[in-house]
Parts: sequence; C-alpha cells; structure tokens
Amino acid sequence: MGTAKSGPRRIGLFGGTFDPVHIGHLRSAEEVAEALGLERVLFVLAAHPPHKGGRAHASEGHRWEMLRMALEGNPRFEPSDVELKKDGPSYSVETVAHFREAMPEAEIFFILGADAFSEIETWKDYRRLLSLSNFAVMRRREAEEGLKVIEALGYRRAKEGLYLHPSGTKVQFLPVTPIGVSSTQVREAVKRGRSIRYLVPQRVEEYILRHGLYRD
Ligand code: ATP
Repeated sequence: MGTAKSGPRRIGLFGGTFDPVHIGHLRSAEEVAEALGLERVLFVLAAHPPHKGGRAHASEGHRWEMLRMALEGNPRFEPSDVELKKDGPSYSVETVAHFREAMPEAEIFFILGADAFSEIETWKDYRRLLSLSNFAVMRRREAEEGLKVIEALGYRRAKEGLYLHPSGTKVQFLPVTPIGVSSTQVREAVKRGRSIRYLVPQRVEEYILRHGLYRD
C-alpha cells in the first residue's frame, strides 16, 4: 500500500465542514492516501466552523450521515466525530493534539487544500499546530499561494515539494487531480433545482433530495 513500507504507521486527518461532502474531497483524499502510503484517513467533521462565521447549512446530524455514507466501502476512509463531541468551536490544534495523544506511535498528516494552507497564520495557535503535525497540502493548480507562506513560516526546503520545520515536522505539497467542485456549488445547484448527479456520491445525492436539504 503506497510508498511507506516501514516506519510508523501514517494517518491522515482531513478536516472539513463537509456541507455536503463531494467528489473533490473524496478523490483528492484518495490520491493523498496513495501518494503518502496512509493507512487511514480520518475525515474530521467540523461542528462549529470558526472560519465560516460559525455556521453550517445542514445540521451536524445530516452532515455526519452524508459523510458516513460517502466513506462506506473504502477500507482506509473513516469519519470522525471528535469535534462534534466537544462543546464550543473546534480548532485544528486541539484536534491534532487529541489524535497525537490517542495514537502516539503514528505519524500524523493534516490534509488540506493549498487555499486553506495559505491562510494558516489566521488559525488558532498555528505555530503550535505546525510543530505538532505534518501537513499534506493538496495542490490543484501550478501557481498556488501555499508555496509563498512556507518559508515565512520558518520551513526549510528539503527537495521539490518537501519542507522541513525546525520542530521536526514537515510539509509535503502534493499535486492532485483538479476537481473544481465545492460544497457551495452543490448547495447552489440544489437551491436552483439543478442536478447534482456525479458531483456527490449517489447515496449522498439521494439523501439530500429525500431530506430536502439546501433548498433555501
Ligand atoms: P464550501 O464551498 O462550503 O466552502 P468546500 O467545498 O471548500 O466548502 P470544506 O468542507 O470547507 O469544503 O473543505 C474541507 C477541505 O477540503 C479543505 O481543506 C478544502 O481545501 C478541501 N477541498 C474542498 N474542495 C476541494 C476539491 N474540489 N478538491 C480538493 N480539495 C478540496
């Protein structure tokens, strides 16, 4: 499985609002898992997304159900409800600290898009976060902002796409197949009564329609 033949088992943490989960999330996580030899990718559902004004469109229960169905059948994909279980807003630094404690032997990669990584300095305790976790930054375009911030954050370039932090963690930039789908696009299409077929897994499409999600 993948490139990591020996050493500690590698776990990916892929956080998101997943409102709803779509094929862009799924395919890029699959490619990252393959490239890094991840044993598991935990899709961590955000309860109160601090970056999105603290609100989501569908309820936690609906987003969880759609995520759970979308991941079914992929043995290395798993939903995680750790952020749902705690009170108040969810911060990545606390989530990573939680998994470091729960899986001290694992090598953890925090998976996120280059767009999100380029704004990392706005995240709570980002310096601590960078020293707690490796990052797998998904690149969907050639020129992306993520690359600009990396040296300002104190990383040293080891080789093409690989940067090392003084704390011992690393950032790996990975090109992924660009799939320009966003949850916003899916919600807008539903609102206008347009088809969302092939933008989300079939069971997620059926769930959205059956429960009348995102209509207004
Ligand atoms: P919204 O449109 O509501 O802002 P989103 O589609 O960006 O949502 P999120 O749940 O906010 O979805 O994203 C979770 C993570 O998935 C982020 O790290 C984001 O960069 C990444 N991501 C979102 N869309 C894609 C895509 N099409 N391909 C690869 N990664 C994506």
